[in-house]
Amino acid sequence: MSKSASLSFENITFSFGKNIIVSDFSLDVKKGSFTTLLGPSGCGKTTLLRLVSGFLEPSEGSIKIDGINQNKLPPEAREIGMVFQDYALFPHMTVEKNLFYGLGIKNNKKEDKEKNIALIHKTARVLGIYNLLDRFPHELSGGQQQRVALGRAIVLEPKILLMDEPLSSLDAKLRTQVREELQEIQKNLGITTLYVTHDQEEALSLSDTIAVINHGKLLQTGSPREIYFNPANSFVADFVGRANFLKKDGKNIIVRPEWINLEKVLNFSEDNNELYGTIISSAFLGTVTRYRIRSNDGSANIIIADENNRLDEIPVGTKVRIIINRYNISSVENNT
Ligand code: ATP
Repeated sequence: MSKSASLSFENITFSFGKNIIVSDFSLDVKKGSFTTLLGPSGCGKTTLLRLVSGFLEPSEGSIKIDGINQNKLPPEAREIGMVFQDYALFPHMTVEKNLFYGLGIKNNKKEDKEKNIALIHKTARVLGIYNLLDRFPHELSGGQQQRVALGRAIVLEPKILLMDEPLSSLDAKLRTQVREELQEIQKNLGITTLYVTHDQEEALSLSDTIAVINHGKLLQTGSPREIYFNPANSFVADFVGRANFLKKDGKNIIVRPEWINLEKVLNFSEDNNELYGTIISSAFLGTVTRYRIRSNDGSANIIIADENNRLDEIPVGTKVRIIINRYNISSVENNT
């Protein structure tokens, strides 16, 4: 039921007064894809969504939908649907009326009423909220409210769906459940979705493509696996998952905690090619045991290792050989 389109940011720069918020930002969002803008608070994610929706205009560059420049087009001409963090549902209106509101501004002629009702019912069925049409928002769970907010955004069949941290007001368990539902609904609708979050797990589990941003600059774009296994630099590695930053043959390397195995030793060897350390703490996390190890190479680095291959815990104070099974060479640092 969606129209779906491609979206591209071409060399976008945007400032609030003297502060440059987004700087030379380019990104292609494929038609039908789920693309996530991931970055810390204040890095410019919401600003990028507002640039797409037309509430802000870039000072340089263009935003294109299906190749058509949107600059200077008013928000109502852009065929964008938007879901906000707080859902912004009208508390005094039923679910059906809330969905009507999504349509009402454009299609308020009497003769359109039947068509609109049919559209609302179809949307409600797709989202699994048809049996809730007579309820008020306070009579719904957080997940159901979220679906109504989504319904209100998609009932107009927009070309692009923008979502700004839509799960952040849900508790942890519900968030995971709604996340899975959201992914299914997006794939069924085939609607191009640009999603904003600072939650790395959410980004990894939902997205076809992740764009990692810091200080208004795009640091890396790729599939969740590309970003996780081949982070371009230490910022990306640290923001998306845990990472150790070590040196090998004069190069900066990135080592995920689970890329390490530990072997108990009685003494440290003199062999410079081996890395040794002493366990300083451990935490059982269910799927893995996380060890913090003070390395013995003179750097006093604290290395984090996640192990899941032994039943018993290695006691604090134990000397270990730190075996690195895999690493990624960090490219030129580009973290600002
Ligand atoms: P969060 O995850 O906290 O929502 P964000 O990545 O979405 O953060 P933005 O809301 O895009 O960040 O804000 C980017 C920067 O622009 C911040 O430094 C913010 O203080 C600034 N900013 C946002 N709105 C305005 C405004 N109206 N006037 C001036 N500065 C603003």
